[in-house]
Amino acid sequence: MRTKKSFSFDEEKDAEKIYNNGFANGIIDYSKIYLVAKYIRQTFGYGEIRLEREVINFCKKQDKNFNPIVEADTIKKWVKSALNYDLRKIESITVSQKEIDTIKKIKSNKDKKLLFAILVFSKALKKGSVKRDKSKLKTSDNYYIHYNNFTDIIRLARLTNTSETDLADILYNYHTFFTFYKAERELIRLEFIDKNPKKIIIITDFNNLMHSYGILFEVIKPEYPKILGRCSICDKEFIKKSNRQRTCPEHSIILERERKTRWRNRQKEN
Ligand SMILES: [Zn+2]
Repeated sequence: MRTKKSFSFDEEKDAEKIYNNGFANGIIDYSKIYLVAKYIRQTFGYGEIRLEREVINFCKKQDKNFNPIVEADTIKKWVKSALNYDLRKIESITVSQKEIDTIKKIKSNKDKKLLFAILVFSKALKKGSVKRDKSKLKTSDNYYIHYNNFTDIIRLARLTNTSETDLADILYNYHTFFTFYKAERELIRLEFIDKNPKKIIIITDFNNLMHSYGILFEVIKPEYPKILGRCSICDKEFIKKSNRQRTCPEHSIILERERKTRWRNRQKEN
């Protein structure tokens, strides 16, 4: 039986961990070798032949009985996938105040959480596109989720006692929010995306999305008045990780990179 894999916002981190530590109990999880193959290609810049060799080495190291001849077709698939796709790494997504305000009008807290999770998830799906040949990507400003994302959405919303069927039932109540494509296409388009966002909020903490939900949807306690910050460079709003943070996550990364380059150049001069 195939186990359903859950959506990862940072496959790079997942892959690095597996590559360095292997699998628990020395049992190869075949659904994860795709990640390992992509990690090897991205990290070492290997072409097809060396990549295939290293993937086989990795599998043999995990399982002495791994037989590359028996698994030849599977190995080919792993390598092909690694040559065509990158590892997903989503550091942040943005939502707009208008999108938040639309969801805020909903009365049920449970539904609000689910719709917020859907909003974030649809943006992550789009940003996390991992095709290497970007020229073949269709560009559209539509956002979608799939029915097979439902378990991930429920997980993000931290809801227990909610099944995928429950979620489907809830979504049908908000027919102005979504377009449901025929069941066989398994696709839902979000109709409340702000195509001209004026006020933007950056979201980074996907492991604890309901923390961001609390800040955006619930009354902020007076002792935490400064939890939302405004970037001193681009003026976007972001959720602060520390009190001293002055720039949005994207600009923090750029500034840090510049700092490191300056430091390296100084080392060279000395
Ligand atoms: Zn910024």
